This record gives sequence, structure tokens and C-alpha cells, in this order.
Amino acid sequence: MRNLLFFAMSGVLLSLAFQAMAQIPGKWKNHDTRRPERPTVIPAIPSTQERAGKAPSDALVLFDGKDLSQWVDEKGQPSKWIVRDGYMECVKGSGFIYSKEKFGSCQLHVEFATPAKVEGEGQGRGNSGVFLMNLYEVQVLDSYNNKTYSDGQCAAIYGQYPPLVNASLAPGQWQTYDIVFHRPRFDDRGNLAAKAVITVFHNQVLVQDHVELLGPTTWMARPGYSPHADKLPLGLQDHGNPVRYRNIWIRELPEEGEIPGDAYTLGPDPVIELKPELLERYAGVYQFPSGGTHTIIKEGDKLYLSMYNGHRAEIQPESETRFNATILDVVLDFALNRRGEVESMTVRHSGSAGTAKKN
Ligand code: MG
Repeated sequence: MRNLLFFAMSGVLLSLAFQAMAQIPGKWKNHDTRRPERPTVIPAIPSTQERAGKAPSDALVLFDGKDLSQWVDEKGQPSKWIVRDGYMECVKGSGFIYSKEKFGSCQLHVEFATPAKVEGEGQGRGNSGVFLMNLYEVQVLDSYNNKTYSDGQCAAIYGQYPPLVNASLAPGQWQTYDIVFHRPRFDDRGNLAAKAVITVFHNQVLVQDHVELLGPTTWMARPGYSPHADKLPLGLQDHGNPVRYRNIWIRELPEEGEIPGDAYTLGPDPVIELKPELLERYAGVYQFPSGGTHTIIKEGDKLYLSMYNGHRAEIQPESETRFNATILDVVLDFALNRRGEVESMTVRHSGSAGTAKKN
């Protein structure tokens, strides 16, 4: 009971922490032009076009049909799985095959084919599996006219979640898995902080929609989570059937705070205090040469920029002539005459600037 309470509490604390992170002042404003662009990626194209079957440019190709140089068996030795004609094939009794490299949260693409020659039934027909972190299995099975328990059919999270639909192709045909996997999280004391979450597309059909795993997947048991490393090898199962794999690629997903650019924090905008009576001079309607207007509104001791579209944003003084919007990447420069009256306002946003005269 106490453990349950602790899990619940840590979940609440974690979500509060994330909420707080999302609201750090001085982080990114709405439409912030300083926010770094994301990297460009040439996407995979699932068709007969030129790049068909090619991984996206930033993926790590784990198997390109040529060799098993990135894979080992359970003992860390070269695997006995066979490579031929651009695919690898499971050899009964040779054991799982594991990626040499270890992964945590990832996007994974796998193509597989269950044997064209149908043998066995139920769990004995075309059985293999994609094991994320060597613990969490997306089942591979010939589920084309082959009955078995639902949480063990093709594209099931084995023993936990049947696929939403059976999108299996006929035996011998190449099929695809596109998987998004978020690893589980454990705190410093090894307590579960977040469950693993998985989304699976089977032949481009959504079959697992962001499901929370109950723990590692296994036969006739639900063992629950035990703390483990952040990264572990990807495994493909030897279940005694000659299942084939090809075109395996993976994109590691960034951990929280590791998204490029997002780790970079802006300092807060400088703010000075202006006497409330001084604020009055900025308030009013400003007209652009084009005819459009912006209005500065004073409410209490705060100023707001009100735009054509009816939105308004608080502005804060950096100096007597420069104000920053608190949630927008907008800078306002006011021109004062010798008597200290406001004559115009220049609005800077997204690399452009426009000057509006005060009415
Ligand atoms: Mg299996």
C-alpha cells in the first residue's frame, strides 16, 4: 500500500515537474525566432519510388541485407542465423540474435516474412519476435488464418495487448513493423517512475496505440518491472521457425531535455520598473502607414499590446523606450519627443519591423 502511494506521489511530482519545465519564464516565447530549427531529414518512402526500402538519412541501419556484422548471439559470438538474398533467416536452435549496440527509446523499422511453407499451428507457426531492450516483445507470428490466444497473435505485445486489428499478410510475404518505443524509467532507488510505452504500425496499420506495458513480456507470467539499464540490445527471437528479416533501421529518440536546441535556455528579458504614472504615456492607438492599428492598453500598473486579431500580450519595459512582450517574441521600440511624449512605436517580430504613429 505504501509502495502504491509512493508510485502515485512520484507520478504527481513528476508531472508537476514537467509542467513547471514547460512554463520556465524566458525559455521560448510564442513564435520565438531564436528557437533553433530542427534538423532536416530525408524521409523513408514506402513505395516504388527511387528511395523505396531506404532508411531515413539519420537512422542507424542495423541490417541492410548484406551481413550480420552488427549482430551477435546470446554468448556474444557470431550468430548462426543465415544471410541470403538480402535477408537474414532464423536457424532453429541458434538462439536469439542481438544487436551489438544498445538502445533505449527509439523508432524502429523492421521487415519480416513468416515461412511461405506453412507448418505447425497456433504459436508454432512462423513464431519469432522483436524484443525491445531484450525485454519487451512485439510478437511475430503467422497470423494469417491461424488461431491462437489474442495476446499472442502477430503484432501483439506478447501476453499483454492484442493488436487493435489483424493486419497480417499471407505467409511468405514481406511485412513491416514501425514501432515507437519509450523506455521505462526508474528513479535513483530503482522504483518505477514511468512505464514503457509502445506504438506499433503493422503494414502501416495502427495496431498498438501508445499502450503502457505492464512490465517485461513473457510466457504464462506477468513479472512486473525490475530496474534495468537505460539502453539494452535489440533482440530477434529464435522460436524454432525459419522467420526472415530484412531492412532493419532504428532512430534513437532523445531523452527529456536532449532535443536539439531545447536544452539551451534563454535568460529572462531584462525588466526595469517604471513609475505607474509614466506608463500612461504609452497607452493609446498606433496607426501603421498601411492603415492597420495596434493598441497599447494600460490596466492597473501593467501594459498590454492589443493586435488587429484581438489577441493581447503583456509587455514589460527593458528601458524607457524598449518593451518586450512576455509570451511573444515581439519587441517594441518607442520614439519619444523632447517633452517625453510618445510619438511612434516600432514593432519588431520575426526579422521584420514596422513603425506606427501614435494617434
Ligand atoms: Mg514470439
